[in-house]
Amino acid sequence: MSNRYSDKRAVVIGAGMGGLPAAQALADYFREVVVLERDFLPGDATPRPGVPQGKHPHGLLGGGLKALCELFPDFPSTLLQAGANSLDSGLEVRHEYPGQEPFPARDLGIATFTMTRPLLELAVRSRVQERANVVFRDGCRVVAIGATADGNAVASVSYKNRDGKLEILPADLVVDASGRAKPTLDFLQSTGREMPEETVIGVDFVYSTAVYTIPPDATPATKVVVTMPNAPEASRMGIVLLREDGKWFAALGGRGADTPPAGGDAFTAYAASLPTSSVYDAIKDATLHGHIEQFAFPESRRRHFSSTEEFPRGLIPIADSVCRFNPVYGQGMSAAAQEAVVLRKLLAAHAGDADPLAALGREFLSAIESIIENPWSLAALPDLAYRDARGKRPADLEKSIEHHMAVIQAARHDPDIHKQFIEVLNLLKPVAALKALPVMPKAIGEVVKAENSASN
Ligand SMILES: Cc1cc2nc3c(=O)[nH]c(=O)nc-3n(C[C@H](O)[C@H](O)[C@H](O)COP(=O)(O)OP(=O)(O)OC[C@H]3O[C@@H](n4cnc5c(N)ncnc54)[C@H](O)[C@@H]3O)c2cc1C
Repeated sequence: MSNRYSDKRAVVIGAGMGGLPAAQALADYFREVVVLERDFLPGDATPRPGVPQGKHPHGLLGGGLKALCELFPDFPSTLLQAGANSLDSGLEVRHEYPGQEPFPARDLGIATFTMTRPLLELAVRSRVQERANVVFRDGCRVVAIGATADGNAVASVSYKNRDGKLEILPADLVVDASGRAKPTLDFLQSTGREMPEETVIGVDFVYSTAVYTIPPDATPATKVVVTMPNAPEASRMGIVLLREDGKWFAALGGRGADTPPAGGDAFTAYAASLPTSSVYDAIKDATLHGHIEQFAFPESRRRHFSSTEEFPRGLIPIADSVCRFNPVYGQGMSAAAQEAVVLRKLLAAHAGDADPLAALGREFLSAIESIIENPWSLAALPDLAYRDARGKRPADLEKSIEHHMAVIQAARHDPDIHKQFIEVLNLLKPVAALKALPVMPKAIGEVVKAENSASN
């Protein structure tokens, strides 16, 4: 098959979990792929300033692993060699919902891994670095995407190199994986285009994360424990997750003024106040390493680039640049990898076209809407249950929450519902699969209804 990209250069802005899978997809087609990253990329699995969230636990969902395996053959071997822990989502993850017994441990056939975010990124980066036509330029901060004279297409990327000097790199395609979409939004503005419409859900969520060595007699029975909040009355939640170095992340989260503390004793006391004692039991006699890190996440933000008219040729925002999900649900990296798979399919579909870039960007932005919709609606449902959450509530919110809670209850007793629920949470199946399940709504919707009518 002919490859009409083979004389072209693609530039990727950002070597994070959106940029790296995208670079891998592009490397199959483009003559050269240049990845520009403002950070100096470390040779080991240490957090870096450009990815401050890297100090917090990052779950790789089954759907994310599947996408990475499509892009990087035999990727599980890469992860295992790097030191990641294999994880069976049915047997080794304990989901705790207030007022309900945890799901029984079941073999659901959903495998993934636990590790730190820097280790995952290092493993993915090492695979992209094997590609002869991918060039990494780290310590290079992008300042602008340049336009053609008519403003209809990208032409170049300007960046400050390691010496602080401005360089201009001609580009046929620019993938904006900078996380905040600033280069894309600046480009749209400078070429006189409208800004994309946005959907925002204000959650005012704060994460506090500590790293512990847990004594053997307190080690959790599963590699991951997730204690969900007592929504909508209380927002406190907790996560315990095994790292590759044998230590454990313990992360506490809360909304609004109920911020989890960053000091040792107060952190443990907050853990003791969670709806179950699992997190507290694990950390109460554990040895704390380093500082407790905090991360404030004010809002989930989805940019509807696909609805903007005349989106410029050769520009592709991806991952968090298009949609930032509430991190509590652990979806962002997995959605990013799924988007890169879409990119690769579209690159293949247009490889023989006389002008392969003509429709690529627009088609990509439309195609990823359905990928984003799943994690977005999964997260919006519990987020909007809170009275203080900002955002437009769908008319059927209460009914949807009732149904969701009924699915969770039914999943304890019914292995098939359990499997489907965990597959949806892992982005392996669309949310529609849950809506089709015949379960009886429970009382939680009544609580939400009362909360929401009290706020009106
Ligand atoms: C506290 C927290 C916990 C999270 N937990 C999870 C989780 O459990 N599971 C999950 O899947 N997701 C999680 N996420 C989300 C996940 O981190 C993101 O969705 C994911 O990293 C998005 O990838 P990205 O490439 O868009 O952005 P990033 O991975 O953040 O990468 C952006 C890159 O662009 C670089 N960059 C930015 N501007 C420029 C510039 N001008 N020039 C050059 N380089 C630039 C940055 O240095 C960085 O390397 C969490 C997020 C937070 C905040």
